[in-house]
Amino acid sequence: MYHSQLFIDGRWASSSSERHLDVINPATGEVEGSVAHANKDDMDRALAAAERGFEIWRKTSVFERSKIMRAAATLVRSRADIIAPMIVAQAGKPLAEAKAELASAADVLDWFSEEARRTYGRVITPRFANVTQSVVKEPVGPVVGFTPWNFPVAQIVRKVGPALAAGCSIIIKGPEEAPAAPVEFFKCLHDAGVPAGVIGLIFGTPAEISSYLIPHPTIRKISFTGSVQVGKHLAAMAGSHMKRATMELGGHAPVIITSGVNLQQAADVLLPTKFRHAGQACVAPTRFLIERSVYREFIDLFKAKCESLVIGNGTDEKTTLGPVNSARRLEALEAYVGDALEKGATLECGGSRVGDQGYFFAPTILSDMTTDMRIMNEEPFGPIALMMAFDSVDDAIAEANRLPFGLAAYAWTSDLCIANKISRSVESGMISMNHFGLAIPETPYGGIKDSGIGSEGGLEAIEAYLNTKFVTQMDPA
Ligand code: NAD
Repeated sequence: MYHSQLFIDGRWASSSSERHLDVINPATGEVEGSVAHANKDDMDRALAAAERGFEIWRKTSVFERSKIMRAAATLVRSRADIIAPMIVAQAGKPLAEAKAELASAADVLDWFSEEARRTYGRVITPRFANVTQSVVKEPVGPVVGFTPWNFPVAQIVRKVGPALAAGCSIIIKGPEEAPAAPVEFFKCLHDAGVPAGVIGLIFGTPAEISSYLIPHPTIRKISFTGSVQVGKHLAAMAGSHMKRATMELGGHAPVIITSGVNLQQAADVLLPTKFRHAGQACVAPTRFLIERSVYREFIDLFKAKCESLVIGNGTDEKTTLGPVNSARRLEALEAYVGDALEKGATLECGGSRVGDQGYFFAPTILSDMTTDMRIMNEEPFGPIALMMAFDSVDDAIAEANRLPFGLAAYAWTSDLCIANKISRSVESGMISMNHFGLAIPETPYGGIKDSGIGSEGGLEAIEAYLNTKFVTQMDPA
């Protein structure tokens, strides 16, 4: 049982109201821990601490900031064996995936620690010899970040990394469903030397926290990862208070597969990408758009690989497919399958829940999909792959662009002209062709259209935490 507290002003504490929420293990459906529920007093203390923390951190040299961040990354690596089982117990993913998430989080911190030293401004050639014009980059100020349960640590580091690199303080509203690993991650930051107030971690009722912190004058920027619906609500709130916002929202990733490619290699790469964390990743491939001449062959290869997945509790090292995160998600997946079958889809495999303990859903392939089916329009966020045939690449691109989402897209093709056409025409923030190459620290990570605003990777991620100030100065007369 893990009992997770709030981290405010460099100290761990229960909620001042002593209120707690239960944490459920999705593999058993049973209570496996608790998390402190912040109230208004806790939020006020977190805000005051973030204001003080900002004054300290913005004046800390970038070399020192960078050193502390690197030390935190080293601690994350050295404590991964302790933290990973917490991710398994509360987010439900297999142990190997939990370890990979922590390795990636440490890499993200390392990368931002290096980039911290390169937040340069520039000098603009003046119109008069006695004038100096410069562009200076300054941290935006205290930030609040809202992060979900699917990657409990990796989602936090994508906000904390650039915020710390830029010189901002940050309060994270972490995932109430999986709080234990975030707590350990914050311990790594604290033990590495991040001063009190620079980072805060709170949990509670999401709507209560967002509606108090976003409008609060202390907060200068918000960053949210989660569903499109909630993202639009929070972005509107941020807009009405003129706060900058980064939004990392849902997707419905198309995968265009043309004839002439190595279909086995495509299936080998796409299967773990699709079923990673039981399909609960915003970049999970979802709509498989396959050229008709290889449609059946690809489905058969993908299906054969599907059979190799081992469903179970992530604590078992053999497990490759864990549960989904809640009973609510199970019901949603069952409803999507029912609706698709009613409208003419073919069930290739899976299609229903597995066992009656925990929230397991069988790896599922639906073929003969049509665009009137709900699951072809709403993000499934579960272990379901949708197969649809196409006759021309133009049709596939039109289908890829049909939805309001624009996060990740994938394509397999050996034709350079088609590859160029896809990369120019598909409306998405990221496209990965003939391999899975997304979500590394040095590359942009974010969506367009309803999938969000801004990027949480690469140089663009730090830029989002910096103000641009123009300074022009004439030599004194
Ligand atoms: P949800 O919409 O209930 O919640 C999504 C996230 O938003 C959660 O972390 C939740 O705590 C937070 N949230 C909800 N209301 C909020 C509010 N008023 N203020 C601040 N935060 C708030 O969805 P869910 O059932 O938890 O997850 C399923 C959906 O969420 C999926 O369909 C997917 O689109 C989306 N999601 C996306 C990502 C991602 O990586 N982009 C991650 C998790 C969930």
